[in-house]
Amino acid sequence: MTPLFVANWKMNKGLAEAREFAAEFSKVFKSASVPDAGIAPVLSCLPQLQESLGQQKGLLLGSQNVHWEESGAHTGEISVPMLKELGAEFAIVGHSERREFYGETDQAVAKRTSAALAGGLTAIVCVGETQSQFEAKQTEQVVSKQLKASLAGVSTEDNSKLVIAYEPVWAIGTGLAATPEIAQNVHQLIRSELEGLIGKDGAVEMRILYGGSTKPGNIAELMAKPDVNGALVGGASLEAESFNSLIEAGRAAG
Ligand code: PEP
Repeated sequence: MTPLFVANWKMNKGLAEAREFAAEFSKVFKSASVPDAGIAPVLSCLPQLQESLGQQKGLLLGSQNVHWEESGAHTGEISVPMLKELGAEFAIVGHSERREFYGETDQAVAKRTSAALAGGLTAIVCVGETQSQFEAKQTEQVVSKQLKASLAGVSTEDNSKLVIAYEPVWAIGTGLAATPEIAQNVHQLIRSELEGLIGKDGAVEMRILYGGSTKPGNIAELMAKPDVNGALVGGASLEAESFNSLIEAGRAAG
């Protein structure tokens, strides 16, 4: 299975910084015949990145969110056709920061996911427990519930562009990544839940990314686990050199 390493820039980098990143990244990034890397910038930078990195083989550009309607009274949102016009090929859906700070529900995540897939975008659906849920040993229960509810509209046929990201909230931006064992246990659970939701074939081929304080120095041990198929990367994706080193170490270990 081709791994996938996706940069989530969150609300970081305006045009000048994105341009600087692109100039450095294009010098070091080694293209791949099958896409295995992606960047989700602030949307205002997508055309700029499209122009400077759009020709890089193996690199996808995408969005940090997507709405289920094509247009209408949805202030602050963006639709699948609008993203496709910008050349986006994927959308991150249900990131914990959206769930925690902007009231994103599993139901909304499900609608976003279905719309993205129906419109031909890859949907990277995020799930993960909070620190208190982790401490209360509720990880499995929380992740299973989020997964089932977030994939409520995904059919057994329409899942070839689905990607799951397990992101324990306590590991995001804290410098404290999950151990490879914890990640593997949860990824294995996700894969077995997926079997029931979308069938065995889809589940076996599904990429399940890990997210939470990954860096060039810890990606190899995570990728050594059989059910870890890539990473969603925040902080370490903001510098071209660091994101590229993570991709290379991940490729080598995957
Ligand atoms: C994220 O926010 O998706 C993330 C994984 O962030 P970080 O790598 O900084 O923990």
